[in-house]
Amino acid sequence: STITAATNAAVIDRDRRSVFHSWSAQGSFGGLPIVGGDGTTVWDADGRSYLDLSSQLVNVNIGHQHPRVVEAIQRQAATLSTIAPAHANETRAHAAELILERAPEGFSKVFFTNGGADANENAIRLARLTTGREKVVSHYRSYHGNTGTAISATGDWRRMPNEYSRGHVHVFGPYLYRTEFWAATPEEEAERALRHLERTIQAEGPDTIAAVLLETIPGTAGVLVPPPGYLPGVRRIADRYGIVLILDEVMAGFARSGEWFAFDAFDVRPDLITFAKGVNSGYVPLGGVVISEEIARAFDDRIFPGGLTYSGHPLAAASAVATIQAMAEDGVVENARRIGGDVLGPRLTAMSAVAPVIGEVRGLGVFWAVELVADRETREAVSPAVVAAAKSALLERGVLGFFADNRLHVVPPAVITDDEAGRGLDAIEEVLVSIDPLA
Ligand code: PLP
Repeated sequence: STITAATNAAVIDRDRRSVFHSWSAQGSFGGLPIVGGDGTTVWDADGRSYLDLSSQLVNVNIGHQHPRVVEAIQRQAATLSTIAPAHANETRAHAAELILERAPEGFSKVFFTNGGADANENAIRLARLTTGREKVVSHYRSYHGNTGTAISATGDWRRMPNEYSRGHVHVFGPYLYRTEFWAATPEEEAERALRHLERTIQAEGPDTIAAVLLETIPGTAGVLVPPPGYLPGVRRIADRYGIVLILDEVMAGFARSGEWFAFDAFDVRPDLITFAKGVNSGYVPLGGVVISEEIARAFDDRIFPGGLTYSGHPLAAASAVATIQAMAEDGVVENARRIGGDVLGPRLTAMSAVAPVIGEVRGLGVFWAVELVADRETREAVSPAVVAAAKSALLERGVLGFFADNRLHVVPPAVITDDEAGRGLDAIEEVLVSIDPLA
């Protein structure tokens, strides 16, 4: 049999024998076995429950095992489990319609992919084909996915062992807490980051640059909410040089930031939008590119040279339809915005007064980062040992956090209630107050 009434130890042992894991030295892998979930809760093989403040990989926006989404997948599986992308399919069209309804005016088509990386891959391809240019400018502090072009566009350390392709240029984006621009205010940070971007474009040769690709709110890099004026400024620069603006909404979109698309709150309209994760809460792998009418029209008579066996897979499309409908009917986007503004933000910020390990709190919606520092003056990051201790202390209190570098990301499902958030915040406060920043 494939499923047994195993213990955590037995599941870990079985997993380690045969499964090769992402971003890990295989010998030290020991991930917590999760065997079930419901809403914001998951449980392990030993029967312990955890409040999931990670939303797994920041993607289970509607919570675990949402009955409508599970049922939609079951219904679609019973009707037609799979179909080639060359066939027309109503479920796929329905998913595209619901996504387009949430995009700004002027977007007319959706190209479906298997996830976020290949969404960025195809957005870059669209930009290159329509501009006839090659280079892509993106941020150092970014993550865009783990395929050939997407990992080269990525700015963080994961790019370096994977860097084979040409045509990628990186710039520093705004991050006032650790400013690269000697800025003292958000306005200065935005203005100087924009100047750095424009000077880089000029020095690279504007005629060689197909796209600027940015996460609307860089997520894994630390929930770096852009300062006012930055994204509209990027739009102006892109327009000045005929560059396609791609906004990566893979992590920030579909309720995470308290909006359907995070850029809705930042006064900017991209040419291409990439999405994945929250669009169907990851119940079946799915991503895609929302394409402006202008770019889509360029392929009315010209072949688009790209495709995937599972582009618009019916189970993935059915789960997107059900997720978006349930989010709309249950007010999930509004819940995320409210709980961010009324509960998560205020309480995490107030915690700074009692927990010296907190350097900065940033975020919105259900998208928060708590920067942990050894010294508030120098802003030096805590050691990996402090991060590991915080992670296990939270786990002991029944809370799954999302840790990246020296940060705790508080990124629960967007359906989280005030009570659940309060419980999670109590545990976080206990842990952060008691931790020794210098340990
Ligand atoms: N873009 C962003 C902003 C992401 O956060 C991620 C994944 O974390 C990706 C792209 C890649 O998505 P996937 O892992 O589905 O390929």
